[in-house]
Amino acid sequence: MISRGTTQQSSAPYNRRIVLDVIRRHGTISRKKIVELVSLSPQTVANITNDLEAIGLIVARRMKGAKKSRGQPPIAFELDPKAGNSIGISLDPGRASAGLVNLVGEILERREVDLDTHDPRRALASMIGLIRELRRRQRRSGRLWGIGVALPGPLIQTEISFVGPTALEGWKDLSVLDELRDATGLQVFYSVDSAAAALGETLFGVARPLDNFFYMHFGLGLGGTLVVNRSAYRGASGNATEIGHIPAVPGGKACYCGNAGCLERYLSLHSLAEALGLSQAPDRDARIVALLERDADVQLKSWCREAADRLRDAVCVIENVLDPLTIVIGGSAPKLLVERLVALAQPLHHSVRGGVAAPTTRILLSERQEDSSILGAAVLPIYDLLLPRFEVLQQERRGAADVAGLLGQRDLTGAGRL
Ligand SMILES: [Zn+2]
Repeated sequence: MISRGTTQQSSAPYNRRIVLDVIRRHGTISRKKIVELVSLSPQTVANITNDLEAIGLIVARRMKGAKKSRGQPPIAFELDPKAGNSIGISLDPGRASAGLVNLVGEILERREVDLDTHDPRRALASMIGLIRELRRRQRRSGRLWGIGVALPGPLIQTEISFVGPTALEGWKDLSVLDELRDATGLQVFYSVDSAAAALGETLFGVARPLDNFFYMHFGLGLGGTLVVNRSAYRGASGNATEIGHIPAVPGGKACYCGNAGCLERYLSLHSLAEALGLSQAPDRDARIVALLERDADVQLKSWCREAADRLRDAVCVIENVLDPLTIVIGGSAPKLLVERLVALAQPLHHSVRGGVAAPTTRILLSERQEDSSILGAAVLPIYDLLLPRFEVLQQERRGAADVAGLLGQRDLTGAGRL
């Protein structure tokens, strides 16, 4: 779906964002094609592309092989990868991964550090250290759009926030992010990791052509986000689709949330590490991959069979409740593991998507698997810059007044605060 422009004078910023979005989605696109897609006059589109070029968000290139025709120079536009970068930090229990990411979703630099996340102060010190290293890579002249932090949910205070080994256990709130902003002087945005990664898939991943899909975040824990019209659905208090704590097995394994048989107790890296006796292993993921490659471990096989059963049920529930175009699976789980579970879950249950979607498109795997969390976090500062709709958890506005003014970014301060 392409958003259409409007001719009302007050909507000039909206039109600029629509043109920017069309350029992003096409990669390279001529002015003539933009005019066709957004239903604005050639002159309006020309003014907008001139404006966007002037502030350095897009670049004009001569189209190769195109003949020059009267009145329409053979010029194509692209997002300028050098227009600015943002820093994404994905915070998981025991680990922080960070990356410097440009406007077209390339990770220019990547860092990872093990840390004790039980202590928010130490997590803060580690995040500041990571940012310092990444900023060294940032060109002095380049814009830095800000910092995005992705954290395991639920975040908005509930009785199951910050409990258990798959959450930031021991945290009371996210005030440490205010300190991160003060310490770095950069705008800080945050989101539940599944919502951040889902937006990353929307902008740069397999979900680029999709207006709606369900994103399943398979990491140490299990989360999910419904994307509708390319925005993350938040629910009444910002905690929607925490699928990890959906009861899946009556009388099943005790869960840290206080219930029993939660989906995450069967379908998560934490559950697998527990089954293999690797919960405390510092090289947990590498050992899991080694076991998967050898394919001989009895406990691993048994865990995979049960996890695949839970995945098959979960897919059926998600499809029947939400009717998404597809379910995208991403997160820090090794791709080999996710592929194994998806294969074992076939054939899928009957559902409202069965017979409508091709069996191969009911589930898609993220192409950025291990990177999807970093990418998702880095997307937060640039998300509302690149999309016409921006109902996203956000904490702060960026400081670049020229861009904000031109794109009509409204003040959402407080919209995503605890
Ligand atoms: Zn639970």
